[in-house]
Amino acid sequence: MIRIDGVLVSPGEGGVYGERMLGGYRVWDPYRSKLAALYQKSGGPEITPGMTVLYLGAANGTTVSHVADYAGTVYAVEYAPRPMQDLLEVARRRKNVVPILGDATAPAGYAPVVETVDLLYQDVAQPDQAGILLKNAVFLKTGGTAVLMLKTRSVDIRRDPSDIHAETVEMLVAGGFDVIDSCWLEPYHRDHAALVCTRTPPPAP
Ligand code: SAM
Repeated sequence: MIRIDGVLVSPGEGGVYGERMLGGYRVWDPYRSKLAALYQKSGGPEITPGMTVLYLGAANGTTVSHVADYAGTVYAVEYAPRPMQDLLEVARRRKNVVPILGDATAPAGYAPVVETVDLLYQDVAQPDQAGILLKNAVFLKTGGTAVLMLKTRSVDIRRDPSDIHAETVEMLVAGGFDVIDSCWLEPYHRDHAALVCTRTPPPAP
């Protein structure tokens, strides 16, 4: 990923949501984007021009637009009509964004338009975040990377965030993922953890 004097940026046309420009690049603010916070804190997966991405919880396309500056094709799933309008505008200006009005809990609905992807990214803030990721794992290539932005308060506001984190890791491992990196996103996002996973190849017959 590109940094200018330590500032994370992306190489695309600006003016998507009032982001700052720096040396002709778009500043990718870790306070506005959990993925930028992950890059700031822990590295995160490199996104390259040949990569396909399935992005669940696209909202108005803020982070999607930065991912699209780096990736090949981004399939961006959002189920709320209002943010979808902004996402459509992002897709109009970036030819590699495929906006999908769909429900991430029901991937069969968008399976006909999504190919298998190198990166599965999820930021849906729902109670069953691990379950949703596992349902969408069918789209991930073997050897691909999944990133789950875990909002612990959406799982259960009364429970200890670290317990929810541990339980989520267990669910992902039981579902066939290796969790290769995990970090809390403070100070950028409170009670959010990023879980970076790879898909364990099935055992040889
Ligand atoms: N990823 C966005 C960003 O960085 O710009 C922010 C995402 S926001 C925290 C969560 C989004 O997930 C909301 O726009 C919400 O409508 C969407 N969402 C929640 N449940 C969903 C579901 N089951 N299917 C698709 N989108 C969902």
